[in-house]
Amino acid sequence: MRAQPVASHYIDGAYAEDAAGDPFDSIYPATGEVIARLHSATPAIIERAVESAARAQTQWAALRPVERGRVLRRAADLIMARNRELSELETLDTGKPLQETLVADATSGAEALEFFGGIAPTINGEIIPLGGDFAYTKRVPLGVCVGIGAWNYPTQIACWKAAPALACGNAMVFKPSETTPLCALKIAEILTEAGAPAGLFNVVQGLGPVGAALATHPRVAKVSLTGSVPTGRKVYAAAAEGMKHVTMELGGKSPLIVFDDADVEDAVGGAMLGNFYSTGQVCSNGTRVFVQAGIRDRFLARLAERTAAIRIGDPMDEDVQLGPVVSAAQHAKVMNYIQIGKAEGAECLVGGGLPRVQGFEGGFWVEPTVFTRVQDQMTIAREEIFGPVMAVLDFEDEDEVIARANGTDFGLSAGVFTGDLARAHRVADRLQAGTLWINAYNLAPVEVPFGGSKMSGVGRENSRAAIEHYTEIKSVYVGTGPVESAY
Ligand code: NDP
Repeated sequence: MRAQPVASHYIDGAYAEDAAGDPFDSIYPATGEVIARLHSATPAIIERAVESAARAQTQWAALRPVERGRVLRRAADLIMARNRELSELETLDTGKPLQETLVADATSGAEALEFFGGIAPTINGEIIPLGGDFAYTKRVPLGVCVGIGAWNYPTQIACWKAAPALACGNAMVFKPSETTPLCALKIAEILTEAGAPAGLFNVVQGLGPVGAALATHPRVAKVSLTGSVPTGRKVYAAAAEGMKHVTMELGGKSPLIVFDDADVEDAVGGAMLGNFYSTGQVCSNGTRVFVQAGIRDRFLARLAERTAAIRIGDPMDEDVQLGPVVSAAQHAKVMNYIQIGKAEGAECLVGGGLPRVQGFEGGFWVEPTVFTRVQDQMTIAREEIFGPVMAVLDFEDEDEVIARANGTDFGLSAGVFTGDLARAHRVADRLQAGTLWINAYNLAPVEVPFGGSKMSGVGRENSRAAIEHYTEIKSVYVGTGPVESAY
């Protein structure tokens, strides 16, 4: 098979298999062909992974931070050197076009390892003078952390979770989505090659129950999930039972607001990036595009033109801009939302159908689709679709659009396009979201905190902010004089 790994899991510095686990197939979304067959983790595999991570963590946390950082930076270099191979695997795993994966996946993972490798030696506590006596604090690792990934960014998610966790002195057991099981195994291999102790980053495969077994394991101190809100609720509740730390990177239905004075080409480009990149399978997508009345016609004309020109096809062809969605199930879900959009009275401006891609008839293709005349209460304006489906809503003034943009339980991201600087900052201030873009969309460099408010999540990934979520503070009080005891 085209992408068969050495074995299903990676534990204690080597590939591991337990054929007693339920078998499952990895499918190339562009053709529907089975490219690998793996086994879900058995309880014995889960136990081995957690035990070896616990052993490695003790050894790893005892190293000087600068040595830990060096391993992560070496891993970043190895990833960059193997970018093409890793990008091709990412394309096989997800169906995303190589044009994207070459610049947005392994490269983003490498940057996370480089960034957190660099700041590992700076993770310090503080000294608190107390008039003679004093106290100091240390940031100590949590122990064994579990990462649970979604299928849209299998390499990036593994690295975004592993890099800060490892930099802080933790070990990680990572469970990829069973839809995209292949890429995280390569990251585990590379970390071993870079000098990480055996067991520091283990990968175990499986569906939800494997994730649930990890999230409730008594030796696990923290769970970091990227996925949907319903799964987030379950995992957060399960982790609370064991008083474990959590990071929850969940879904959204983010607003992108285009004011009359915006640059039309930039706003159209931003809206397209925020709806069609990765075939629309990005948590932070701006799927509710609010367009002010005065720019509406010009915006829609260019949007229709540019969307119709998107090149769909063989994801391995670097000229291709849009691949299939990730699975047959996701395809059915997205097509169902398109039907609902039409049935509820939205107007389909572009797309809405199934493209025929010659030679790839078994793939999970969806035309990039734009709905106009969308109303706030319509299903396609309220629920996360996770496919290349943009909803355009009309608005008249600033107060109105802010109230409507905030009228959702989600709060992951938001965007505003305008030529008026004061308005840009005023609107960004009033929008309820963890990440906002002004005259840009969907850029998430590692230097900037990323995460959601409201139902979209808890905690932040990337930047120094992530350090707080992979350490806890230990306070040490130092007495320097005689003990003044009342007894
Ligand atoms: P889920 O949220 O269901 O899954 C995310 C991860 O959690 C997967 O690895 C999954 O395993 C695992 N998981 C599922 N149930 C549990 C559990 N009880 N305990 C621990 N881990 C669990 O996302 P899906 O992949 O099923 O996608 C469903 C929808 O979620 C999409 O259509 C999309 O709308 C949304 N989504 C949002 C993402 C975002 O970043 N906002 C990312 C991906 C999806 P497994 O999948 O192997 O069963």
